[in-house]
Amino acid sequence: MSPTRDIRHYLIDIEGVLVRDKRYEPVPGSVDWYNGLPDAGYDRILVSNNTTHTPEGLAEALRGAGFDVTTEDMVTSVAAGAHLLRGWDKTRILWLGAPGLADWWREAGFELVERGKCDAVVVGLNADLTVADLDRALPSLVDHGAELVALHRNLFYLDGHGERRFGPGFYCDGLTRAAHREPVVIGKPHERIYRLALEKLGGRAEQALFISDDPLSDLITAKKMGMCTAFVLSGKYPDHAVLGEMDQEDWPDLIADRPDALDTITHGAIDAVTDGE
Ligand SMILES: [Mg+2]
Repeated sequence: MSPTRDIRHYLIDIEGVLVRDKRYEPVPGSVDWYNGLPDAGYDRILVSNNTTHTPEGLAEALRGAGFDVTTEDMVTSVAAGAHLLRGWDKTRILWLGAPGLADWWREAGFELVERGKCDAVVVGLNADLTVADLDRALPSLVDHGAELVALHRNLFYLDGHGERRFGPGFYCDGLTRAAHREPVVIGKPHERIYRLALEKLGGRAEQALFISDDPLSDLITAKKMGMCTAFVLSGKYPDHAVLGEMDQEDWPDLIADRPDALDTITHGAIDAVTDGE
């Protein structure tokens, strides 16, 4: 029997848990649930692969939807990427993500180049990316030895109109093959962003519950790192059929229709889950 768990930290995905999609309409019940977590005794941190907003812009969008959020309450793959690149002393970059974030990178201390020699080619979601942009990046990787950094590697996403669009993983994979260079991945499902979130909370994986609408991309890593995991059906999957694509050992510990239904899950229930392991 495993030791009793005392869950203190909630790590929370944004899209599909707090809000439905990029229109930032709250999932029913999620505003009161999220805002009430501190009084219920839980630390909380949002863990997001968002690469289209600055951290400040994302916090503002969530506050507009009713959530009590500041940049201190989140780790996004953009912020995590900047933090890690600075730590690796790679501050001269070719940015292939959303053009609207170029000034944010500069204010964060980075030099942005259009082509040629640089420390890293950084890939994020960019709905207007062209083949000419990829052409600019290729010599930096092949001839100048730049690192390929993917803020995340999702192949597609649903835009604000619900249309399926190519994501950064698609063009990252093209660059990877053309340049024979594996990318350094920052966001989920890579462990890097999970570790940064735990660091920011000052917490341990064994005391964390990761909540997401995506058991494949988000929860497998959390579970491998020793966290409890909760799959909510308020986002991209309306039922648990997707679990059929997963190894049983990766299945989430808890499943709920929407995040506020997790309120009924007490420490005791989580103990029961972990004791059954
Ligand atoms: Mg999600």
